[in-house]
Amino acid sequence: MHQARDAMYIGGQWRPARGERRIDVLDPASERVIGQVPAGTALDVDDAVRAARAALPGWAATPPADRAAVLAAARDLMVARREAIATTVTAELGAPPAFAAAVHTDLPITVMGSYATLAAEHPFEERVGNSRVFHEPVGVVGAITPWNYPLHQVVAKVAPALAAGCTVVLKPAEDTPLVAQQFAEILHEAGLPAGVFNLVTGLGPVAGQALAEHPGVDLVSFTGSTAVGRLIGAVAGGAVKRVALELGGKSANVVLPGADLARAVNVGVANVFANAGQTCSAWTRILVDEARYEEAVAIAAKAAAKYVPGDRLGPLVSAAQRERVRGYIRSGVEQGARIVTGGAEAPEGLPTGYYVRPTVFADVTAEMTVAQEEIFGPVVVLIRYRDEEDALRIANGTVYGLAGAVWAADEETAVAFARRMDTGQVDINGGRFNPLAPFGGYKQSGVGRELGSHGLAEYLQTKSLQF
Ligand code: NAD
Repeated sequence: MHQARDAMYIGGQWRPARGERRIDVLDPASERVIGQVPAGTALDVDDAVRAARAALPGWAATPPADRAAVLAAARDLMVARREAIATTVTAELGAPPAFAAAVHTDLPITVMGSYATLAAEHPFEERVGNSRVFHEPVGVVGAITPWNYPLHQVVAKVAPALAAGCTVVLKPAEDTPLVAQQFAEILHEAGLPAGVFNLVTGLGPVAGQALAEHPGVDLVSFTGSTAVGRLIGAVAGGAVKRVALELGGKSANVVLPGADLARAVNVGVANVFANAGQTCSAWTRILVDEARYEEAVAIAAKAAAKYVPGDRLGPLVSAAQRERVRGYIRSGVEQGARIVTGGAEAPEGLPTGYYVRPTVFADVTAEMTVAQEEIFGPVVVLIRYRDEEDALRIANGTVYGLAGAVWAADEETAVAFARRMDTGQVDINGGRFNPLAPFGGYKQSGVGRELGSHGLAEYLQTKSLQF
């Protein structure tokens, strides 16, 4: 595990923070303090933005192939430290070790690798008729990330920003700052020039807000809750800064008549309970036709039983999150949904840890709170539909539109349905993760896209010269 540093990474050095306050980092399984990091202030943010601004001309002028070489070196270091990274994620997020390695570590490794390739291959200049069009870095990026995939969320912003020639100030989530510090060490050792990447740990309303508001930041890239995203969007709009927002979700897993029901429900439950339900793109609403509804409920209950808290199902990140999720479970019961398995009570045999029982709700109607709001815990709801139009109405009937799944007897039927969904990403009959496919939301799930060349484009602005 990474040992917490009582310092900020600014201008290529670990420097003491300007203020006195510290943040305790907790292990959500043992509830013990495992380290302390500085709670950054507006002064730290200002130092970091100045360092990023000073480094911008040099990095922007660095040939893309050289930027790519640094990203490739960072990727190799991440591979070499795979175990150490996974251990850190387990310690500060509570992710079970196998998941911490296979997803929390390998996914950002893949994404870093993809940007090493894209930096080298992307056409940063093109011809359009009698014009030469240049794709230039936007400038200094303020990146604000959540705790749920602590390294992936960081790499999904920092890698494309660096590939584009931008410089970065990162404010990671206060619950999971350790892997961000580990990542700063990796970039340093990979040979990234001083000031190109800077890390300020701290609280959202203090350091995060100071970063979003800083006049020296050209683009704010935020991943987190829709509530905070709205604030950031307003700040960026007021200052006419570029902004990218990756926000919440309440994605539908639509099982059409004729689909393989067992597979759709089993994969669907696994999709929600991975990471203890703390996945913005999780397919948290399973939509099944009336005829097969009870069969689906039984399959879901059996699938959920495999997620034993403390073993395959990790804790939630914090006591606050656990209480929030329990509150949602209680609201489901109060509004008349049927608990098939799980519930708001503490799981047995776990005296410590922010665990929540894996919970399956049946008899859920589209209007209930558990069907409308993002729970961000191990809770899945099953909703009945009458026919395809009803399924589509329910699938599109929330303020969100981040992801989704469609299962059908044939691909063509599934694709036709998916095209009518108001959402940014849909997995067809299970799908397969593609690190180059654009990821991002429709409606209140956000603005902009991450990953692949679409993710790179967020950090570029165009200039055209006419001849
Ligand atoms: P959050 O919005 O509370 O915090 C996210 C980040 O914003 C943290 O770094 C936090 O310190 C910072 N922050 C908080 N208040 C701020 C403020 N006033 N100004 C500036 N920064 C501020 O979200 P969270 O609880 O950490 O994460 C969970 C949420 O993130 C969920 O709603 C989830 O859906 C969403 N999420 C979305 C995606 C996506 O890609 N769309 C991915 C992961 C998580």
